[in-house]
Amino acid sequence: MNAKLDSGVATRPVTRQTFDEVLVPTYAPAAMVPVRASGLDVWDQDGKHYLDFTSGIAVSSLGHCNPVVVEALTRQANTLWHVGNGYTNEPVLRLASALIEATFADRCFFANSGAEANEAALKLARKYAHGKFGPHKSRIVSCYSSFHGRTLFTVSVGGQSKYTEGFEPLPPEINHINYNDIESARAAIGDDVAAVIVEPIQGEGGVIPGDIEFLKTLRELCDKTGALLIFDEVQSGVGRTGTFYDYMNVGVTPDVLTSAKALGNGYPIGAMLTTNEIAQYLAVGSHGTTYGGNPLATSVALAVIEQINQPAFLARVREASSKIVANLEKLAADYPQLFTRPRGKGLLLGLPMADGYKGKSKDYTKVAEKLGLMLLIAGPDVVRLAPALVVSDEQIAEADRIMRQAADAFLAG
Ligand SMILES: *Cc1c(COP(=O)(O)O)cnc(C)c1O
Repeated sequence: MNAKLDSGVATRPVTRQTFDEVLVPTYAPAAMVPVRASGLDVWDQDGKHYLDFTSGIAVSSLGHCNPVVVEALTRQANTLWHVGNGYTNEPVLRLASALIEATFADRCFFANSGAEANEAALKLARKYAHGKFGPHKSRIVSCYSSFHGRTLFTVSVGGQSKYTEGFEPLPPEINHINYNDIESARAAIGDDVAAVIVEPIQGEGGVIPGDIEFLKTLRELCDKTGALLIFDEVQSGVGRTGTFYDYMNVGVTPDVLTSAKALGNGYPIGAMLTTNEIAQYLAVGSHGTTYGGNPLATSVALAVIEQINQPAFLARVREASSKIVANLEKLAADYPQLFTRPRGKGLLLGLPMADGYKGKSKDYTKVAEKLGLMLLIAGPDVVRLAPALVVSDEQIAEADRIMRQAADAFLAG
């Protein structure tokens, strides 16, 4: 008999305090514990209501407990959960076919997170470069302030040293350039480069859109040197910026694209998309994952993309975006001591703190949360808004009202 389970641990009350006692302290979660949600509405343990403008960090794009997604998951949960990679399954074949039809890609690989999708992309780039050009072609070029995940390889490729400190030795042959700096790109991308990885809009790094000329130059340099261009669309993808993937906005087609976050609307899944020619370099046995492409995750993702990749749905994302941007422009104009002008694309928006309040984005979002609005930050200087793509005009107006109330409360101390 298991003594721990016998003691009633499964039914004992848990609070935010329990987090500090039983979890590895990698996070500092909010004071309230969400227990229930629907659409953009969230309720905590005390029954208090919040309007969610985070979607779990750009994940639940169709809102919490979206009925079509719930139906897809429960139907699959009653049909087939897991068979392992010794067998394929119908949902993964349908999802891959749908993603291929919707994008530049001919082939998909599925994993369980954004980091794993990027890990697969970087490993593929090495295999491809070594196989096609030789072992000298290993270098990975990435951008400062980028974020690509937390495995040792992806965190080393990411451009934020605070996330690698203490984890050395790091994998070698990774170089960083300044984002949107064309001259540095030209200097860094030579014949020994296997891959250039870039977010078409930097999310975690501060909601910074990539310049089209910069992204086009990366494409040209990759074509010239035989390096693969990897677009990390883990945050920007699946409708978030107003097109199905952001490369469609930008007009630059990558060789490899990674997707996760919104792809599963909260059910863990990651995907790597590429072309036939490149995909051949990951032959049988060269890479894999136990859960990647399992029927539950792929059924959910198929239901997600069928809803999002519709012209009318994406047009509404762009419309909602322009309404929020107009509100943020007015907010920044009315509170110039607190905020500067908003930036971003679609429903991935950043509101930078003004000079006098640098480092205080988290403090502002805490005030907003007390007033019933959940917001994100993108580093210490930027408030980030990433509501579900199904956000209504009424919810946009309500968020604006609370953000103003929070600005007053914050300035009043
Ligand atoms: C969140 C994120 C990742 C990491 O995804 P995980 O699912 O947390 O591993 C990678 N790249 C970008 C651009 C992200 O925003």
